[in-house]
Amino acid sequence: MADLSLSIPGIAGHTYAVLGLGRSGAATAEALIRSGARVLAWDDSETARAAAPADILFDLRQADWATIDALLMSPGIPTTFPAPHPVAAAAMAAGKPIISDIELLGKAQPQARFVCITGTNGKSTTTTLIAHVLKSAGRRVEVGGNLGQAALSLAPVGLDGIYVLELSSYQLDITPTPLADIAILLNITPDHLDRHGGMAGYVAAKQKVLAPKGQSSLGIVGLDDAPSRETFATLKDKGRRLVPISAEKKVENGVYVTEDGQLVDAIKGAPRNVLDLKTIAALPGKHNWQNAAAAYVAAKALGLSADEIVAGFQSYPGLAHRQELVATLNGIRYINDSKATNADAAEKALACYDNIYWIIGGKAKEGGLAGLEPYYKKIRQGFLIGEAAAAFARQINRAFPVTMSGTLDKAVADAHALAQREKRAGAVVLLSPACASFDQYPNFEIRGNRFRALVEDLVAKKGAA
Ligand code: ADP
Repeated sequence: MADLSLSIPGIAGHTYAVLGLGRSGAATAEALIRSGARVLAWDDSETARAAAPADILFDLRQADWATIDALLMSPGIPTTFPAPHPVAAAAMAAGKPIISDIELLGKAQPQARFVCITGTNGKSTTTTLIAHVLKSAGRRVEVGGNLGQAALSLAPVGLDGIYVLELSSYQLDITPTPLADIAILLNITPDHLDRHGGMAGYVAAKQKVLAPKGQSSLGIVGLDDAPSRETFATLKDKGRRLVPISAEKKVENGVYVTEDGQLVDAIKGAPRNVLDLKTIAALPGKHNWQNAAAAYVAAKALGLSADEIVAGFQSYPGLAHRQELVATLNGIRYINDSKATNADAAEKALACYDNIYWIIGGKAKEGGLAGLEPYYKKIRQGFLIGEAAAAFARQINRAFPVTMSGTLDKAVADAHALAQREKRAGAVVLLSPACASFDQYPNFEIRGNRFRALVEDLVAKKGAA
């Protein structure tokens, strides 16, 4: 079974420090040991240390860096801003490289092809969509990185295989060797600025995904925001092989989506309509059309036909907690968008529906619901939950009626009762809370799972009635 685990060539006998023993750090330590390296591993959390094999633990604050080849860092730990972790600072002072597990995966599988996806939003959707389309067409694919499985717990894919990797800006910052045969930069809007020392640092980290691996490497770049457009223009001038995509307007020699959802391939020759994206239920909204355009270009570059790609889009199941259709009861759809932890993300969902019974609240972000006002006319009623309920009620200021439901359980019951009584055409009961979950749930997944369970209960009751 040895060939089911990755090994990294050329590192036997070397010593590596591993800082952070979460999902990616633990897999990194294992892969290094499997490859014959010596590992000194540490995590500031006692719980994480307790879960690690005792013989690799070493307090890296006491490390003699002269004996260590490189520091493998978990992407969650800062190397620069707001302040470097003391272990990272010591490694840098000793002139040792700081690298990610992604860097090692590139070394472990040099013959494989890599599709690397980054962007502020849409990474997970695009990553899983590409992986699904490739698998549906019979390709050997492993998918992971910032989502799902850690890079070094993926299986080797062999010569014809493809790694589809979601990469965060943190991972890109510590992955110095160009990796992507196909790189996707979806979009850039301000996020995580504290970790990158400002917008310039964040944009620079995202751009790293496009560093050319070789002559034939392809970059796919969204043109729907200014920093990404500037990135495209600069790299195009340098002669990079790039395909532009847009969900907003026509682009020359690229792929775009029209106002009414037609995916158009204009990479070469006369523009051709590929698919009406409105027919793909798992990819609602313009934001998902950008993801679909990127996935189309990537799959095409890997040799899939338009028919194969369309078939893959049609069977794509979508991701949980992102406008996930849980059930339809008497024509009313129940949608779990628990991942919408801020107003920007909630806006994407509100744009997609009419007659919305909207469950909102939790732990509010700065600005609360600001920016969502244009969508208020689509809301039949709001059902307010969590810490933010009172402040949101004030902010909404009777623009639409609200119920102070308090808890998610009560909100689902309240929204369900009203929606079923009113029976409006196309109505949706939508959990798109525009808030973090931490006041009532450990994370957005558990909040979304609770919503799903409550809706499934309603479905079961209906079945029993
Ligand atoms: P990420 O992995 O980058 O966080 P996801 O694919 O998980 O992105 O989507 C998270 C949320 O971001 C979605 O629920 C939606 O609100 C929004 N979103 C998805 N794709 C895009 C996009 N291309 N542009 C803007 N927002 C998007």
